[in-house]
Amino acid sequence: MQEEQCEGILLQSREVGESDLIVTFWTDRFGRMAFRAPKARKSQKRFAGQLQSFARLRLVFQRAREEERLPQLLRVDPSEGVAILPEELGAFASASFAGELMLRMTDEGDANAALYALFTGFLSFCASAALTPKALARFEMRLLELLGLLPSWSRCMECGSMIALVHTARFDLLQGGLVCGDCRPTQSHEAPLLTPILRAALDALQRKVTLEGETEPLWREVLGLLDRRLCHVLGHETRSRRFLAEVIGF
Ligand SMILES: [Zn+2]
Repeated sequence: MQEEQCEGILLQSREVGESDLIVTFWTDRFGRMAFRAPKARKSQKRFAGQLQSFARLRLVFQRAREEERLPQLLRVDPSEGVAILPEELGAFASASFAGELMLRMTDEGDANAALYALFTGFLSFCASAALTPKALARFEMRLLELLGLLPSWSRCMECGSMIALVHTARFDLLQGGLVCGDCRPTQSHEAPLLTPILRAALDALQRKVTLEGETEPLWREVLGLLDRRLCHVLGHETRSRRFLAEVIGF
């Protein structure tokens, strides 16, 4: 079998056999992908301690002849990008949350260049600046959008009519879209009312423009809504999100 290459972020590793590791990366060319890294725990030669969480690496690997066996990781090289160290607690907690979403919301082999760019961009941001409620909300919104889990911010999901930004609407958290005043959401207690200012904030976030008079409490509220949407998609709150909230306070 021929050698192949890609770039990836290490999300998970577990020990297997006497000295091997199974390492799961999110890669630019193949999406989520697991490899067997032979002797990674014993020999420092081949991987030189580079298989650290959230390391961005260039990977050289070889697929196995039998389909059920994992591809074998042959070598790694550091790629451009900032490392996230466990000592930097805020950045590490942010990366852990983003990493868990990438692991749980995508299937093995689902390549998505836009998603990879979003993930690596978010990690670089977290490594170089303090995370804000707005930045986290932007990441969550874009992730949901790229996975097709936020259908529309301007049309009613039920009747299809346009809902002008000046009107209130409900955010159906089960379906991930808006419901107008004339239609009924799937479950009313899981369909909070979006006031015009909240709608303007969501719209500004999506269009990446500054909202006049934006405040941190407003972005916290927006983030709370997107967190609730994520909970519905995943079935429950994630531990890494709770940990992140404990570390950074939102
Ligand atoms: Zn409607």
